Amino acid sequence: MTTLHTPEHTLFDDEPATEYPTGLREKLMAAVRPEFRSAVLVVAPDDPVFGSSPCLVGPCERAARLHGMCIAHHQRWDAEGRPDTTEFAAHTASQIRGDGTMMSCAVAGCGYGRTGHGLCITHVRQWHLADRPDISAWLPTCPTVTTPAPHGQCRVKSCELWATARIPFCVSHAQRWRKAGRPDVAEFAVAHEQTPHHGETIDLLVLPARLRLEIQTSSHLASLG
Ligand SMILES: [Zn+2]
Ligand SMILES: [Zn+2]
Ligand SMILES: [Zn+2]
Repeated sequence: MTTLHTPEHTLFDDEPATEYPTGLREKLMAAVRPEFRSAVLVVAPDDPVFGSSPCLVGPCERAARLHGMCIAHHQRWDAEGRPDTTEFAAHTASQIRGDGTMMSCAVAGCGYGRTGHGLCITHVRQWHLADRPDISAWLPTCPTVTTPAPHGQCRVKSCELWATARIPFCVSHAQRWRKAGRPDVAEFAVAHEQTPHHGETIDLLVLPARLRLEIQTSSHLASLG
């Protein structure tokens, strides 16, 4: 079933009360149990409201939306020229961009997160300096990185990437942290620890308040059967 995360970011915390007709906000709040006021919904494929059959890409646990695939895999499939879906599902990586499990730089031993071309910012620079050769041919010529993480690990414990020089998170978590308005580092780290790596997440904070409430209310009602 659908589970809810990051309870510290609750509904309406960021909303002015005046946005709702008098009394409506209170009524709606009363109708939604506290655990359903969470900001991030993790949608399981068997969720009665948002679920559907699981994505064709085996280990991907997101609900299928288009052509038997989750949105992310459908996008990749489309970008690859819409090959045979069964073949695509069998060969493509289940991991997707923006996933909880972010990938490290393709250079052996480098633990920084990827920023482009499968490389971290340092290695992307080196690759540019080398006149942008074919990456697969260039990679084996790169010396293996043997030094430990220069700035430590990303503070999100479940994240295995190296922290960046200025912000104590990997590139991906640093980006989310900046987007979230640079909250307390420890609190942010804990909140992101609670978000599982699998399943489709709907970040309710990016939705307009009314739509957000509608989703929360319907997932609440669905849970009541
Ligand atoms: Zn998928
Ligand atoms: Zn690197
Ligand atoms: Zn991280």
